[in-house]
Amino acid sequence: MKILVCNVGSTSLKYRLFDLTSGEDTLSEGRMERVGTQTGAWQHKDAGGETRKQTLPIPDYATGIRLMQEALLQRALPSMEELDCVAFKVVHAKGVTGVQLLDETVLSAMAAFHTVAPSHNPPYIAAIRQFQEALPNTPMIGSFETGFHASMPPKAYLYSVPIALYKDHAIRRYGFHGASHEYVSTRTAELMGRTDFKLISCHLGGSGSLCAIVNGKSVDTNLGFSLQCGIMHNNRCGDIDPYIPIYLMKDFGYTLEQIETMLNKQSGLLGMSGVSNDLRDVEIAAEQGNEDAKNAVDSYCYQIQKQIGSYAAAMGGVDAISFAGGIGENSTLVRRKALEGLEFMGILLDQTKNESAKPDCELTASNGSVRIFAIATNEEIVVARKAKAYLLSRAR
Ligand code: ADP
Repeated sequence: MKILVCNVGSTSLKYRLFDLTSGEDTLSEGRMERVGTQTGAWQHKDAGGETRKQTLPIPDYATGIRLMQEALLQRALPSMEELDCVAFKVVHAKGVTGVQLLDETVLSAMAAFHTVAPSHNPPYIAAIRQFQEALPNTPMIGSFETGFHASMPPKAYLYSVPIALYKDHAIRRYGFHGASHEYVSTRTAELMGRTDFKLISCHLGGSGSLCAIVNGKSVDTNLGFSLQCGIMHNNRCGDIDPYIPIYLMKDFGYTLEQIETMLNKQSGLLGMSGVSNDLRDVEIAAEQGNEDAKNAVDSYCYQIQKQIGSYAAAMGGVDAISFAGGIGENSTLVRRKALEGLEFMGILLDQTKNESAKPDCELTASNGSVRIFAIATNEEIVVARKAKAYLLSRAR
């Protein structure tokens, strides 16, 4: 069974072609950055081959899809008809979650949440439509990022606002990064050699969230109705007092559009540091003495630390903490600072292991009782497995 998994960002397109017939083989993978410009960057690799890198115009997704198709047909796929489906790690839809055939009803439900996921839903819908045009006979399947959190209890997903907002407008905590938290949970269970444990999964990338997981099930997470809350993100604000926008609008004449742009594009690591939305740049600026950058890094780690404490309390303990995502996997500084001071909870990081962490390695000090891991997340395989299960259940 051949499944192409696509991960669509506002300016990027990542793809991985799997053969899940008997094992889990990756036949081909690639990523395009700066889609929508004349200076797009594309890298593509077939199994057993070299990585090919080039800079070229990728003015729109249609061009990106055509380039990807041509590359897949060179070696990995004899024809596009061989594809059993294209699967997408879709983000958010009104009244829809889990794994779905991406038909007009589901695309409309995604469009109904454009305001809630403005950076994610519009590019996804555009890309899905272009895939539908390019491959009219291939099923398009979506695995929603909210699906993994369907197990949260009402006390975790209800907001303390009039209950009519939940009943009439579906306003509740949904949570995101489901594919990554699910992968981290499964992979940590393999590394622990057991499935009955309390885990805090820290997915820290350009966008980040933490998830409290008991025996493999999400019981709480800190993204919510939208992706605007929780810890700060690369350029989104995370949790702030809801009266800040009201104050700015009423007393200083800020417009709704200004507030939206500020919270969605000019906040987080970028807004606090004034340096960059990339943590690597902010870490360097902080080392060089930039006070705003130092405060941004300190706040970022402090927010993670507080959330870890909160989830340990919510679960009545914690057995393991796993870090994933570009930051969770790579930043020794963030792991160290986020866990610093939590020794009283049995959380002890081995500093040498932390400095030389490799994907899927354990970082627990010998006297620590909570196990700590760095995990290379693999959201694509989670989406591919779900798409396969969906296709098999439909065939029955
Ligand atoms: P996305 O959430 O966009 O999919 P990733 O999970 O790949 O992104 O994470 C991207 C972020 O990871 C970058 O913005 C960068 O801040 C961070 N990052 C990657 N490598 C490092 C590193 N070695 N040290 C610190 N941060 C890193």
